[in-house]
Amino acid sequence: MPDQTEADMTGVEQRISPKPEVDAIGGRTLKPATLMMGHGYDPALSEGSLKPPVFLTSTFVFPNAAAGKRHFEGVTGKRPGGAEGLVYSRFNGPNQEILEDRLGIWEGAEDALAFSSGMSAIATLFLSMVKPGDTIVHSGPLYAATETLIARVLGKFGINWLDFPAGATREEIDAVMQKAAAGGNVALIYLESPANPTNALVDVEAVAASRNAVFADHASKPPIAIDNTFLGPLWSQPLKHGADIVVYSLTKYAGGHSDLVAGGVLGSKEQINTIRAMRNTIGTICDPNTAWMLLRSLETLELRMSRAGENAAKVCAWLRDQPQVERVGYLGFLSEGSTEGPEGRQADIYRRNCTGGGSTFSLYLKGGEAEAFRFLDALKIAKLAVSLGGTETLASHPAGMTHLSVADERKQALGITDNLVRISIGVEDADDLIADFANALAAI
Ligand code: PLP
Repeated sequence: MPDQTEADMTGVEQRISPKPEVDAIGGRTLKPATLMMGHGYDPALSEGSLKPPVFLTSTFVFPNAAAGKRHFEGVTGKRPGGAEGLVYSRFNGPNQEILEDRLGIWEGAEDALAFSSGMSAIATLFLSMVKPGDTIVHSGPLYAATETLIARVLGKFGINWLDFPAGATREEIDAVMQKAAAGGNVALIYLESPANPTNALVDVEAVAASRNAVFADHASKPPIAIDNTFLGPLWSQPLKHGADIVVYSLTKYAGGHSDLVAGGVLGSKEQINTIRAMRNTIGTICDPNTAWMLLRSLETLELRMSRAGENAAKVCAWLRDQPQVERVGYLGFLSEGSTEGPEGRQADIYRRNCTGGGSTFSLYLKGGEAEAFRFLDALKIAKLAVSLGGTETLASHPAGMTHLSVADERKQALGITDNLVRISIGVEDADDLIADFANALAAI
């Protein structure tokens, strides 16, 4: 007999509901890895289907006019659940909403939103928060497209920006924050940690303390948003360290299979509702199929990230002892770093804010572009491609690829030298990867 029906004494089949999803058992709150299998999805709403179907529809039918009005009221905030408040697929959809419920769980966020790309998430966040004359204070460097968006796109609309280096001290952060506050309305503080491509960590706790002190007398304090793409949600959870909003390129570790492009934003209900209103207006939500793929990805997120992190630790420990290698810029080494100077500060941030070094790192080879190219061309398992966080290992040459158009001076300042290779380690066998790197190093 199928699970969903039950014959009564008269032989008439009656529908019964599947067991409801639970988030706690006997006072124990279930862990994210457990909740990723079912949280936010009610099979009873989908013919008992174990997995949510992909809801390929552009619009949703209202049972009557009054319900239609009520549904529209739901568009402005989190819907009550069920079919209530499903209106039109530019605003919301079942797949996206299940995804959002699960995304928020990893960092204990009140609410979350899914987007069509990391950049559309960031652009929607900015558009919802800033107006002409406002200032964005940000850490630097940022992912190149984010820098372009702030300086060249928002700059055209009269929005100003001031930045401090990712590894800045509290005093340096205070100085920039005070200058920004003296110059007018600071709408948003935007961080990226670790910074792409330098891997420098931002001291989120120091930024939050600085914001609270500098804006103590203001009616409202600018929210702190942070791009957590490289270490989140497993190795860094900035909401716990003073950030208000977390931003993701879900294309990377969350998607994890290099087969989709998407973005996410997490935060308080209030902040998320402001951003949701902008997303509803401009339509930067991700499509249902991508949301479905992300739900599948989230089920294995902890497994994939743990394995990739272990692999990276093993590979980096091996790489740094090789004669062809000048230096390995791997965050995990900070746990054994000195306590002095800028590196000591980075080690201190790492110990306070990170639970792992991730699986994306910089490999500086002895030599220049020719040596880097020979190494890259000899790789057999690692694929030559930009991006990161997938199941497969990727390698690229930032100076000749992602940062080709960046001025030489800026490249030097960012440490983007010709001998730099960026590597994102996947979930393959670590010893196979070491064999691949050994072979490629020998080919230099
Ligand atoms: N933020 C960081 C740190 C990134 O590395 C990227 C892309 O590489 C993005 C944002 C943009 O994400 P997407 O490519 O999904 O738009």
